[in-house]
Amino acid sequence: MKRRHFIKNVSLTGVGLVAGNAMLNCAENNSEKNENETIMTKTNSKFPIAICTWGFANANAKAGEALSKGVKALDAAIIGVSVEEENLKNTTVGKGGTPDREGNVTLDACVMDSNGDCGAVVCVENITNVALLAKQVMTETPHVILASKGAEEFAYRQGFEKDNLLTEDSKKVWEEWLKSPEYKPLINIENHDTIGMLCLDNDGDIAGACTTSGLSYKMKGRVGDSPIIGSGLFVDNEIGGAVATGMGEEVIKTVGSFLIVELMRSGMSPQKACEEAVHRITNKNDKYKGFQIAYIAINKAGDTGSYSIHKGFTYMRYQNGKNENIHSSYFNKI
Ligand code: ASP
Repeated sequence: MKRRHFIKNVSLTGVGLVAGNAMLNCAENNSEKNENETIMTKTNSKFPIAICTWGFANANAKAGEALSKGVKALDAAIIGVSVEEENLKNTTVGKGGTPDREGNVTLDACVMDSNGDCGAVVCVENITNVALLAKQVMTETPHVILASKGAEEFAYRQGFEKDNLLTEDSKKVWEEWLKSPEYKPLINIENHDTIGMLCLDNDGDIAGACTTSGLSYKMKGRVGDSPIIGSGLFVDNEIGGAVATGMGEEVIKTVGSFLIVELMRSGMSPQKACEEAVHRITNKNDKYKGFQIAYIAINKAGDTGSYSIHKGFTYMRYQNGKNENIHSSYFNKI
């Protein structure tokens, strides 16, 4: 079965939640068959590359290994981020995510492919692999964004299973928070771990995925930057891609990821473009002292960069079989 068809069937037959492994196995089979074919001849020694926000070593390695086996950029990014969506210890992505003020875990995600197509889901309950669901919106509907119940019902029609996303641990912490519930949508180093991932595959094509449970104890219905194309993620395969993490409201106000790609288009390196996008926020007023924002970016040549407002942000880079954690430079030196 052709990989394209196989992947489609994986998510249509109710095994979407193990899509990552299934996609990987299939790619392995294909790369065996294609041993001496085009994948090898097209390989640039610098490629493939996977980068992701924060220190998600396993997720990034999984994406990097998939890329090395010939998986295309978007599927590799989805394989990578699904590691964190399924990681119960990660309290700001997927299953195990921190709930909203009313105890509902609601997830946001988007994907963008190298041909400029994209898909997103916002405020979705009971579905773990929302990045894969965002891809299904992209490939199986004429739309870009599905929200809430509509997205959830679409997921079941696509074969996704219903899952309880609120773990006992997250529930306990939420119940503790309820004793003195103060609504402070504060983003600091401890409380955000959105995973945004960008992959550059063997063919030199770039795609990305971004997935989160958003701000801890957010207002019911609140959606941040992560599923918003142009804010949490943007890819232009002729130029490069960028993803964001941190206080989503501020990223949306400056359309951060789109801005970075456009700055790269005008000649800036990924590093300089990330710095300029952070400065657009920090130049306005001194509110930035109360929240964190970080960007990572990659260009067509495989150069990467990152910048954050405050100290403490790191990102992963997989290249030539090496998976490194890189400390980002940052704006606020005080
Ligand atoms: N950007 C995410 C949001 O605002 C939060 C995060 O990165 O932790 O929903």
